[in-house]
Amino acid sequence: MALAVLAVGLSVSNKIHKADLRITSLTFALGREDRLEKLQRQLRQEIGRLTRDAERGTKVPDASWNDLHKRITEFKNRSQQTGQSPDYRSQLGSEAAQDEKRASTVFVMVSDQLIETSRSNPSGIKAAMPRFLSALTALETSRSQARQELTSAIWKAADKNRRESRRDIISVLLGGLVIVAIVFGMTVWLRQRLVLPISTVAARLREFRVGENHGNIPGLERADELGDLARGLNEYRNAVESRRTAERRAEFLANHDMLTGLANRLLFENRLSHELARSARTGDIVAVFAIDLDAFKAINDRLGHAGGDRVLKRTAQLLSSCVRGDDLVARIGGDEFAVIQVARAQPAATEALISRIFKMASTSSDEGVAIKMSVGVALSEPGQAGDELHELADLALYRAKADGKNTARIYNKHLKDEESQRVRLARDLENAVSAQELRLVFQPIADTVSLEIVAYEALLRWRHPGLGEIPPDVFIPIAESSGLIGTIGSWMIDQALRAASTWDSKVSLAINLSPIQFRSLSLASEICDAALRWRVAFDRLELEVTESATLLGFQRDDVLATLEKLREYGAKIVMDDFGTGHSSLSNLKDFTFDKIKIDRSFVATMHSHASSASIVKATIGLGKSLGLTIVAEGVETEDQLSALCRWGCDQVQGFLTGKPVESLADAKCSPAFNK
Ligand code: C2E
Ligand code: CA
Ligand code: CA
Repeated sequence: MALAVLAVGLSVSNKIHKADLRITSLTFALGREDRLEKLQRQLRQEIGRLTRDAERGTKVPDASWNDLHKRITEFKNRSQQTGQSPDYRSQLGSEAAQDEKRASTVFVMVSDQLIETSRSNPSGIKAAMPRFLSALTALETSRSQARQELTSAIWKAADKNRRESRRDIISVLLGGLVIVAIVFGMTVWLRQRLVLPISTVAARLREFRVGENHGNIPGLERADELGDLARGLNEYRNAVESRRTAERRAEFLANHDMLTGLANRLLFENRLSHELARSARTGDIVAVFAIDLDAFKAINDRLGHAGGDRVLKRTAQLLSSCVRGDDLVARIGGDEFAVIQVARAQPAATEALISRIFKMASTSSDEGVAIKMSVGVALSEPGQAGDELHELADLALYRAKADGKNTARIYNKHLKDEESQRVRLARDLENAVSAQELRLVFQPIADTVSLEIVAYEALLRWRHPGLGEIPPDVFIPIAESSGLIGTIGSWMIDQALRAASTWDSKVSLAINLSPIQFRSLSLASEICDAALRWRVAFDRLELEVTESATLLGFQRDDVLATLEKLREYGAKIVMDDFGTGHSSLSNLKDFTFDKIKIDRSFVATMHSHASSASIVKATIGLGKSLGLTIVAEGVETEDQLSALCRWGCDQVQGFLTGKPVESLADAKCSPAFNK
């Protein structure tokens, strides 16, 4: 490119130089013409002066004539040179040059003749003069012609030079423009093809370094070296990306539960200690929720392992949908879940989350299985360690389970005291049977109309050596959760039948059976054996169960089969606590009960709450239509008794007709009702 520009420049300057030379040589030729003319004029004047002197008869010295002759010869030489000058000829038309040459030759010849005449015969001057004048005129005319032509040639050359210069400048300018355009185009092209792709590749690599991997690497399809570079980098990026994916996957697996995708115990513990450390700075309060599915084992038994997994997944979704984005839901193991909730406004935030969880759980029923769970929550205190907080949440969970499940408890100091009391009772209960601290009391169940005692319900009592009487509402759940209920239940069945063997054979024995006792498949034969042992007819037995035994309980079908077997032997099956959360109408369609016990809470409030009265009346009506015996428990007043009598209730049980007593001698119905 630079060479082209240089060549154009050289050619232009060469042209300008040539044009200058031409003009110079023409100007030079013109100058020469001027000098010739001047010479010629001097010659003419000299010739005129000498010839005039000679004509007048004045003696003209020979030297003057010789001098004149010499000057004419010089003029001749000069004119001949002019005519022969290559410059002159090349610049002028040959005709004008030839004309001038011829005219000067004639002029020189005629001048010589006139001088000759003047020297030899001055009288002949007059006759010779016209020829001289005409030669002079011809010479002047031809010279003027030649000068004109020279002037015009100079003008033309200058004009041509000017035009060519302008054209050359325009060409140079255009050439320059073209070069600038080409350079610009090449720059743009280079930028587009090389610089931009390279900087995009660099940008992608930089993004990739910080973990972003969105954009494509440009130029992958190119066949050149840049394409090679792009492909190489792409391969490198893919290799690193797949290694990163594998690392992320490994990290995810290390921190998450495979089944539900929730955080696992490891992540939970790490996050908990992190949040506790942070809360020390921020003043926030960390709430740990310990969550356990109620009756998950029963669900597993009913739906199989895959069904159990589905319920766990649903639970995970349910919990995740209840929490905020920055809370953590984890599966700790089995059917145990946990949530970390960090908030300033506690316990308000905890209570709100609990109500969201239970609201959501109440509407979540799939495959006929509603998700029911117990929740225990503990709120952090300054300086508390993560595992300690989790333990307290577990303690609250334990309490929620002991309080009937499907509920939540928030840990407090009082709960801790209760818990240590519970631990103590659980420990002491182990020896209660062997230490003969347990005993049975019997509460009469009477016919509503005749008030005749038709049965006695056996109720457990525990006199603790240090703490005195412990109510069964307290120690039965402990016995259930610690597994002692099996031993205690067996002892109780034996003792109750032993007592019943001494009673009037028309009076029945009501025994309470805990759902846990049904875990023993030999329950039916155990009762059967005890009845045979004490010779109590099977049709005198009434076995009281709650819904937790029949619906939620362990191995539902087995429970129902056991009940069915007992029924076949002749025992009556009673649904206890009917109308409460533990018993409901749904049980009635799955199993044929013989008797329904209306829970004492309805009886107690039936005169103060219209709804309680309605439930009592409706239950009595239901029993009649199904042919079941209806018992009302907790009857304390005569008003209650007369209302129940009016509504057609079959049997009553309560302090009015008899409190639980140690021996039947004390267990007669109150004389007032013993008609
Ligand atoms: P339950 O089966 O509903 O027993 C009736 C409870 O109501 C007894 O309380 C009894 O004392 C009480 N009661 C009876 N009449 C009245 C009344 O007029 N007013 C009031 N306020 N209460 C009355 P107890 O003996 O404290 O038993 C509580 C619960 O403990 C029982 O409720 C039963 O669920 C459980 N339980 C008692 N003994 C046994 C047992 O041997 N085995 C099992 N599995 N559970 C038992
Ligand atoms: Ca009962
Ligand atoms: Ca009851």
